Amino acid sequence: PLATPEGLLAPASHRVADRYAAVGRPSAGHFENTPDTDPSVAEFRRWGADITARVASSTLGVKAVQEARITSAESLESVLGRVRAAGTTWATWSGASRGAVLHAIGDALEANRAALIEVMASETGKTIDQADPEVSEAIDFAHFYAELASELDAVDGASFTPAALTLVAPPWNFPVAIPAGSTLAALAAGSAVVLKPAPPAERSGAVLASIIETALDLHGAPADVLAFLQVSENDLGRQLVASPLVDRVILTGAYETAELFRSFRPDLPLLAETSGKNAIIVTPSADLDLAVKDVVASAFGHAGQKCSAASLVVLVGSVATSRRFRSQLIDAVSSLTVGYPTDATTQMGPVIEPAAGKLLDGLTKLGAGETWAVQPARLDDSGKLWSPGVRDGVARGSAFHRTEYFGPILGIMTARTLDEAIDIVNEVDYGLTSGLHSLDAGEIGTWLDRIEAGNLYVNRGITGAIVRRQPFGGWKKSAVGAGTKAGGLNYLIGLGSWSSVPAGA
Ligand code: GLU
Repeated sequence: PLATPEGLLAPASHRVADRYAAVGRPSAGHFENTPDTDPSVAEFRRWGADITARVASSTLGVKAVQEARITSAESLESVLGRVRAAGTTWATWSGASRGAVLHAIGDALEANRAALIEVMASETGKTIDQADPEVSEAIDFAHFYAELASELDAVDGASFTPAALTLVAPPWNFPVAIPAGSTLAALAAGSAVVLKPAPPAERSGAVLASIIETALDLHGAPADVLAFLQVSENDLGRQLVASPLVDRVILTGAYETAELFRSFRPDLPLLAETSGKNAIIVTPSADLDLAVKDVVASAFGHAGQKCSAASLVVLVGSVATSRRFRSQLIDAVSSLTVGYPTDATTQMGPVIEPAAGKLLDGLTKLGAGETWAVQPARLDDSGKLWSPGVRDGVARGSAFHRTEYFGPILGIMTARTLDEAIDIVNEVDYGLTSGLHSLDAGEIGTWLDRIEAGNLYVNRGITGAIVRRQPFGGWKKSAVGAGTKAGGLNYLIGLGSWSSVPAGA
């Protein structure tokens, strides 16, 4: 069990449990998004500074990770057997009772907001201002799926049978929100969960799992309904994915990882959100100041390490031919403060591992006809800290047009018309997020009709999907397996099966 580090409890007005105690919890169907920490409040700024001070020396989660390591095929099979058995009991609980436990988990996550931010920042370099909304998203998933769990009870004439065991394989870039969302969806549906974190984010996963496990225990959920385990990505990893004891796999990661998982087990029941190569189109009717702000936030938030990040901006007509948008963009990008989360002034943090391979190419090599509008620079010996880059003149069909780089680099492309811009965007293999900046209703309609992506944003950044408002998921090569989006009832339904509706019902 994990307690919030002493003195770092979230300030009282922040705690959802306390707010609900005062006003009563919203009834089913009335879901309220959890607020992020407001840095304009002095008390919250001090709280943030306390977390920042702890980041450099944090050891949160280390012990839990050591305990969770599985090293033999026999122990893996026995854990899977225990978890599956717990799932069979958990499935007998009504959705409403499971939902009550999920609400308690949401409150426990809020009470441990500081610890979750600290472990993400210390382990993965995520800045505090990115980690805080990530905790809010995890809390939102708990309360939202809690409400949906009771809806599974309320379908006339048909009953829902959850998967007994769901394997959750999250990525390292959202080491709290994504494992929380996947785990809580499965728990809400009535399935037991094996959570296997991505190796670069295992401490964050361990802290998250301890918070959830403690709340599950306190509320009488079957022991072993959640198991956090760390297996190395060798034969044991393959055994885990391929095990017939696993009924569903929720994967968030690279497209290639989904293919690898499928090669382990061709009939794998997979719900996977995979890679993206996302663009924002800016037309002459746009509010250009807003467009610059949204492009910068979408491209360089978390150093571009989001599946949802903007990797391309496609300038249309006079936006492409005049200097205004480009010069504002260059000023804005060049003025970003780059550093580690141990420094409160940092706006853009490091990449998680020293840049190598494709990412290093993206940061250092130009393609034919490209120029640096802002040239990225390596800022220290670690190979992790890079200033942001913008390349101009990205050609249609080039490597930069079509490849996901997952780092702080943005490419500028140009088009004569909106239709041409849409063709350029649709030409990539992926379709996760997409953005349009335009104040023209006709243009917005055209774009909505033609653009091929799962999450569409008009006059807004393209990262930071909000629970319930924007269920998240892609199409084309951005999704593999059941294509339902995280954050909706269909997602829970994908984690089990319906009995056929009885005749005459
Ligand atoms: N849900 C996140 C967002 O909307 C992206 C998740 C991901 O990177 O996989 O920004």
